[in-house]
Amino acid sequence: MKIIPILLDGKALAKELEASLKLRVARIIKQTGKTPVLATILVGNDPSSEVYVKMKGNACERVGMTSLRVNLPEETTTAKLLETIGILNHDDTICGILLQHPVPKQIDERRCFDQISIEKDVDGVTCHGFGRMVMGETAYGSATPAGIISLLKHYKLNIAGKHAVIVGRSPILGKPIAMMLLNEQATVTICHSRTTNLPELINQADIVVGAVGRPEFIKAGWIKDNAIVIDAGYHKGGIGDIEVDKVKERVMAYTPVPGGVGPMTIVTLIRQTVESAEKKITMNQRDL
Ligand code: NAP
Repeated sequence: MKIIPILLDGKALAKELEASLKLRVARIIKQTGKTPVLATILVGNDPSSEVYVKMKGNACERVGMTSLRVNLPEETTTAKLLETIGILNHDDTICGILLQHPVPKQIDERRCFDQISIEKDVDGVTCHGFGRMVMGETAYGSATPAGIISLLKHYKLNIAGKHAVIVGRSPILGKPIAMMLLNEQATVTICHSRTTNLPELINQADIVVGAVGRPEFIKAGWIKDNAIVIDAGYHKGGIGDIEVDKVKERVMAYTPVPGGVGPMTIVTLIRQTVESAEKKITMNQRDL
């Protein structure tokens, strides 16, 4: 009997999650009289980054939150960005801070990410948050990988005992998804630009995650039948990092591009901002 591959519909799930987040935001506003705010920082004029920040701001507003846009010029220094984040950290009206990656080259991005206070690190970019997540402590996960895990869980795909092969080891994607899958009891292999036997490793994968940033770099022929295929890449023309169209008929499940991982990233950021706002209420009540 032919098994029908599952389309992991991130767009539909994100829409469903947004509806419940909207109710939670309404409850927060009713309880506090204040609208939760996500601050988004965009440094420079990168057109893709501008689009991503706009999409995140729009999602914020769809669920009834406010997005505070902070635009800084291309020539911004590390010191200026650290100072800006410091001000947002101390602003009691702000529940979450998103610093859009990448920042211009002259800026020490790691230092700036780590300047975000752990309570407002709703995009999960700080070393502190990453370390806590790895150790299984409470922390906001890096948004794209946390969104991928939500998608796998929503479709009740079994992760425990599976061999997951991740292509890419970036701090915002490859490394955190590897650790999250490990925490879900997968056996994890992380590949990168110095990996010498990529096709063989991918051929062993029950779960393949493409986080490499090169259009259709991962070939359909490397992927075994019945694998779960997660494509985090997005490139012009609506293609990802994996040859998904050529493999989708013979896998267990796959993410479409677009409409798979992308919408899950945004809704995860929004969900974590709502959680931060809810935590603030609980803390304020404890202080009374
Ligand atoms: P990145 O920082 O450029 O990292 C790319 C990774 O791929 C690096 O670890 C690099 O290895 C590895 N790599 C490069 N060439 C390779 C090769 N020939 N063989 C094996 N590995 C190789 O990219 P990123 O920020 O993680 O993003 C990855 C992709 O995800 C991009 O397509 C990006 O657009 C997409 N993305 C999507 C979302 C979303 O919301 N949907 C969010 C973030 C990113 P080294 O470490 O050795 O250099």
